[in-house]
Amino acid sequence: MSSIIKNSILKMSAASLHTAAAATSAAPLATLDASKLQITKNPNPKTPLPNDQLVFGQTFTDHILKIQWNKTKGWDAPKIKPYGPISLDPSACVFHYAFELFEGLKAYRDSNDQLRIFRPNKNMERMNKSADRIVLPTFDSEELIKCIAELIKIDKHLVPKEKGYSLYLRPTLIGTTAGLGVGIPTDALLYVITSPVGPYYSTGFKAVKLEATDYAVRAWPGGVGDKKLGANYAPCIKPQLEAASRGYQQNLWLFGEEKYITEVGTMNVFFVFEDKATGKKELVTAPLDGTILEGVTRDSILELARARLNPEEWTVSERYYSIYEVEERAAKGELVEAFGSGTAAVVSPIKEIGFHGKDINVPLLPGQQFGALTAQVADWIAKIQYGEEEYKDWSYVVADLKE
Ligand SMILES: *Cc1c(COP(=O)(O)O)cnc(C)c1O
Repeated sequence: MSSIIKNSILKMSAASLHTAAAATSAAPLATLDASKLQITKNPNPKTPLPNDQLVFGQTFTDHILKIQWNKTKGWDAPKIKPYGPISLDPSACVFHYAFELFEGLKAYRDSNDQLRIFRPNKNMERMNKSADRIVLPTFDSEELIKCIAELIKIDKHLVPKEKGYSLYLRPTLIGTTAGLGVGIPTDALLYVITSPVGPYYSTGFKAVKLEATDYAVRAWPGGVGDKKLGANYAPCIKPQLEAASRGYQQNLWLFGEEKYITEVGTMNVFFVFEDKATGKKELVTAPLDGTILEGVTRDSILELARARLNPEEWTVSERYYSIYEVEERAAKGELVEAFGSGTAAVVSPIKEIGFHGKDINVPLLPGQQFGALTAQVADWIAKIQYGEEEYKDWSYVVADLKE
């Protein structure tokens, strides 16, 4: 071998060794880090709307939190910027293959002018599970909560005062990679927008009529019904319109031959039965088998009910139960009440369920739009959310506005 060739081979292998070394010594992927937060203030702050003009999710605050992610760099510095449109390539994977997930939680102003969020760690945990399922990047929950706290503080003048009012927080994560290949997104954007909202029921509870739906299925075993993916929601509007055309506000989603009750609209659902023979009551909701969204409100209701209802009088169950059981127990006079549960309304009382052309009547307290436990649960949770009562670490103080 001539020395020239030999030399160039040596050089080549040295060069490739060098690149390999560079790759292994490359900086580790950056993690989401709240201490890197950069803030650009909106020069045109809004004046708050009067509380009675707040419509759910229709107006937003002055700022947006944005955090970019890239496969080779990891999480970029979090940025708070003036609220405004996002510009993306029309081929971005979010638009074609639904690389999108979201969360919903609320910040409350308590009577001491402290701002609080209800169990944000549960939402962050769920957001990470949703992200993992559609190969979007996961992140450190605590760090995102810190960034969200800053976003709330900067828009604190838009967090409504008065019990029942709150700031709805909408964390969102999308895949932004341009190109039509179906694959793992190499770029993503996590953003959080916030919307001042009023009580779901501005004039007190309003019990709803449901249509038990078996011709369309919301979620199925092995599917993604337990994740807050945008793709789960669009297909549920048409069945809702069909139910509405027959006079029902929401779908009571059934599953399988047994016609198990799963959820109502975009809420979890609870029923109360009373065993006529023993006088014992049972609070029932469907088990978390992968087809049920793991609601933070659901979890909170179960925990408080187990801690606070007298076990001599009550059992609290996560079990399968069908529309046939509800029908049968209603006929025997054993159906006591029923309600949906979720962040937006906390609880939503149910007064009637249409099933195969018949209506099942769900009792309400005389002259009221709710049942006794529905009202009790709403009160328990509101007291913790508004800091009137401390329960574990469920109410997370974001800021003290007196300071
Ligand atoms: C968000 C949601 C719920 C309620 O979850 P919370 O954490 O209590 O707000 C229930 N079911 C579905 C399908 C949902 O999307």
